[in-house]
Amino acid sequence: KVVEGEKLRKKLHNTILELKGNIRVFCRVRPLLSEDGVGAEANVISFPTSMEAQGRSIDLAQNGQKHSFTFDKVFTPEASQEDVFVEISQLVQSALDGYKVCIFAYGQTGSGKTHTMMGNPESSENKGLIPRTLEQVFETRQSLQAQGWKYEMQVSMLEIYNETIRDLLSGFDASRPENGGKQYTIKHDANGHTHVSDLTVVDVQSSSKVSSLLRRAAQTRSVGKTQMNENSSRSHFVFTLRISGVNESTEQQVQGVLNLIDLAGSERLSKSGSTGDRLKETQAINKSLSSLSDVIFALAKKEEHVPFRNSKLTYLLQPCLGGDSKTLMFVNVSPDPSSTGESLCSLRFAARVNACEIGIPRRQTSMRSSDSRLSIG
Ligand code: ADP
Ligand code: MG
Repeated sequence: KVVEGEKLRKKLHNTILELKGNIRVFCRVRPLLSEDGVGAEANVISFPTSMEAQGRSIDLAQNGQKHSFTFDKVFTPEASQEDVFVEISQLVQSALDGYKVCIFAYGQTGSGKTHTMMGNPESSENKGLIPRTLEQVFETRQSLQAQGWKYEMQVSMLEIYNETIRDLLSGFDASRPENGGKQYTIKHDANGHTHVSDLTVVDVQSSSKVSSLLRRAAQTRSVGKTQMNENSSRSHFVFTLRISGVNESTEQQVQGVLNLIDLAGSERLSKSGSTGDRLKETQAINKSLSSLSDVIFALAKKEEHVPFRNSKLTYLLQPCLGGDSKTLMFVNVSPDPSSTGESLCSLRFAARVNACEIGIPRRQTSMRSSDSRLSIG
């Protein structure tokens, strides 16, 4: 009886997700910070409070003009890390049920992406989605044991900088910055599993083991940044949890994947400088962010050719995008008035992604990299 009830619960849960569509967009506005610019008390962002708009809409004022956007969910600056996690916990459950899930954080540098994804893993209040996800996964695994489920979990963490993969769990070798000769070639097998050659993949049994991995990754990242004179906002951070479960009484098997991705800052070229290494970084980011949007739009329009191979990021995530996988994009927004231009760009981009799944006619949702803000001329 317990097994039947459990089956029904999962079925219902997945039906609800299917009804909601496979791509969802959540917007999160961070609070004003003391370091935000002059005039920061002026409210450029407001949240409509009518019945139908509450929690789903955001207004941005620019030069006296109001721009309104609606998403699946809008988090105001008061939203806690816990409030945000509650809204994604069903996606974590999906991964345990055998789905492939990607959760992205998109937005300009300083908008709150890393806070949302990682936060402070050591703080019970401020820890972000990654530490909370791990806690839920290990707790749920415990309770599913009673129903005969046995799960194995594997974690990897990498960063993509200038279209090059860097393993965050192997330690950073400054004497051989170019990956110490490692290739990190991406391959997908016939079962839809992704293998990255040479990448460290760690079996994990408890969330405390993962905490130490998170610390190691953070350290590798910051050493890399200092020694290579890179800016941490210029790379994509990809956290991957692979879950394989087998039910010993029913012999049912599941293979889920959960990717949590802190994307490189989406700000435009003029802000980040335009020569030498910075130019190279910006071009690499533009290439991968525009590839990501090209892939999302091609999938939404059910196009025959989906350009996964145009960037490392989309190729790496190929099996986890499209099909019956589930994608959630956070668009992070800063309330600082000096960021209004960037915020408007981010919200417009996210609104196009959102339109992909609510059935707006194709001509309104169509976006090629050439007409998007992502391609920089
Ligand atoms: P990004 O990763 O997009 O560059 P961060 O996550 O580093 O941005 O956020 C920039 C600053 O704002 C950090 O000091 C961070 O702690 C703070 N911050 C971001 N979001 C929030 C939030 N929701 N509540 C409190 N502080 C936040
Ligand atoms: Mg960041």
